Amino acid sequence: MSTINTAFDYIIIGGGSAGCVLANRLSANPKNHVCLLETGVSDKTPLVSTPIGVIGLMDSKKYNWMFNSQPESSQGNRVIYCPRGKVLGGSSSVNAMLYTRGTPSDYDHWASLGNEGWGYSDILPYFKSTQHQERGANEFHGVKGELNVAEGRSKHPLGETLLEACRQAGYQDNDDFNGAQQEGIGYYQVTQINGERCSAARAFLHPIIKRQNLTVITEAKVARILIENKRAQGIEYLHKNTLRTLKANKEVILSAGTFCSPQLLMLSGIGPEEELNQHNIEVKHHLPGVGKNLQEHVDIITTNKSKKANTVALRPVGIAKILKDIWLYINQRKGFLTTSIVETGGFIKSKSELSDPDMQLQFIPLVMEDHGRKKSTLLTYGYSLHNCLLRPKSRGRISLHSSDFLQDPKIELNMLSHPDDLAAMVNAVKINLNIFSQPAFDHGRGKSICPKQENPNYKDIEAFVREKANHVYHPVGTCKMGNDHDAVVNDRLQVHGIKCLRIVDASIMPTLVGGNTNSPTIMIAAKAADMILADNC
Ligand SMILES: Cc1cc2nc3c(=O)[nH]c(=O)nc-3n(C[C@H](O)[C@H](O)[C@H](O)COP(=O)(O)OP(=O)(O)OC[C@H]3O[C@@H](n4cnc5c(N)ncnc54)[C@H](O)[C@@H]3O)c2cc1C
Repeated sequence: MSTINTAFDYIIIGGGSAGCVLANRLSANPKNHVCLLETGVSDKTPLVSTPIGVIGLMDSKKYNWMFNSQPESSQGNRVIYCPRGKVLGGSSSVNAMLYTRGTPSDYDHWASLGNEGWGYSDILPYFKSTQHQERGANEFHGVKGELNVAEGRSKHPLGETLLEACRQAGYQDNDDFNGAQQEGIGYYQVTQINGERCSAARAFLHPIIKRQNLTVITEAKVARILIENKRAQGIEYLHKNTLRTLKANKEVILSAGTFCSPQLLMLSGIGPEEELNQHNIEVKHHLPGVGKNLQEHVDIITTNKSKKANTVALRPVGIAKILKDIWLYINQRKGFLTTSIVETGGFIKSKSELSDPDMQLQFIPLVMEDHGRKKSTLLTYGYSLHNCLLRPKSRGRISLHSSDFLQDPKIELNMLSHPDDLAAMVNAVKINLNIFSQPAFDHGRGKSICPKQENPNYKDIEAFVREKANHVYHPVGTCKMGNDHDAVVNDRLQVHGIKCLRIVDASIMPTLVGGNTNSPTIMIAAKAADMILADNC
């Protein structure tokens, strides 16, 4: 092993949503020497800062890990694309910027599993303290935080058609999905500032990056955490083709995200011993739950052609509009280039007796296929509606292809492996078709593209779901918090059985929250920072 030549108090692995918050909070005291390592590059590019860049980022090897799942047996052995940010800001630099938090019951459920301090009343202060809500402060929102939460500046007219169709189908309006109740339909708020993306890097890292006690190393891939005597001593990382080591005087904090955090733990000898033995990795600590409990929001998109030139498309009318929008963006930071693509939607109950919404709608005024990567669909005028299942019962896992740290993690999503999830997705399709059939869409409704049949029966829909169901990029749970057999961290996010090592990112969520996962991850990191500072004072 090469010699440890540099020491920091805290070493943070991964400069994503969680890592940027930690770097900010832990380096606030100049006495703490903090190092943040990120595999990706700087986020200073218009592709990241311009909201509509989200389309290009889906396909960018430079800024995106572009993982693929294993062939999914419950979905006809399809390989499912799993984008993740590989850039400062992590997935918050490539995401769709929707600001939602889930429901109070999501967090009360975490507490009921034995995780002290994670109930809604405990975590709400962290949602508030990390945000700057442009609407102003109230019981649910704060204005003193770094993460700017704004109204979307782009309002595609077809979004209003969707909302009208939802009303006609019986759904109520809601102007704040993070307020007194989540249920309802409306416009999403977005993490943007002055019409530009407000990633975790923009919010939490850029303003403090020049602190003398903070070192940020990009294009650095951590190869393993160095464990001796059941204590994290430091890390080994690859930078500019050289393997280097860093020593942690206080703690190593793993924030590499739901796919990479369990992979790195296993590469460091912490994980299920049978998995480590299979790859000839020395077992430093047998922890059976590492990589298990993978949860993801399974999603289906229904798509219709439009008879009118009223949707986003690469056609003469559409192109003329896009040129106008480029001018608007350059001059005023307004127009369609500020869009998160998903401007309208909401949270609905598939059965009225449910206490919380179980499905999320996300509307896009264009024809979308293969995560927006199939550009030929943009030649057709049409519109699409995502419907995702908020609390799926299927579970996947992360494991290793080999002991090579440069290889991708092995991702088995196993979505739809639970029969209830398949049934729920069939229902989701019926809900979408009902919304599309409402009078609001009568003026332009064309043929159904997905599903192909105009009046599909149950079997048709089931086959369609198996063929097309996907996900909305919210993997969690692979290093879950708790005290049971499969828990990886305790409720202070310390790795069970190892000293001076915490995990702070979306992987620690024991169960998926009923909403998008960026702001919940930021909340987790802000709370973790308080715990880390308290435990090391
Ligand atoms: C396309 C897309 C759209 C999304 N849309 C939304 C949305 O609209 N709203 C929302 O709330 N959420 C959304 N999400 C989800 C949300 O962005 C994530 O849940 C959140 O960013 C996860 O944060 P994290 O800190 O756990 O991981 P990440 O932000 O992914 O950070 C992990 C970081 O660790 C780095 N890393 C990994 N391995 C190593 C290593 N070995 N060494 C050094 N660095 C390493 C990675 O490069 C990355 O920067 C979306 C995600 C994606 C991908």
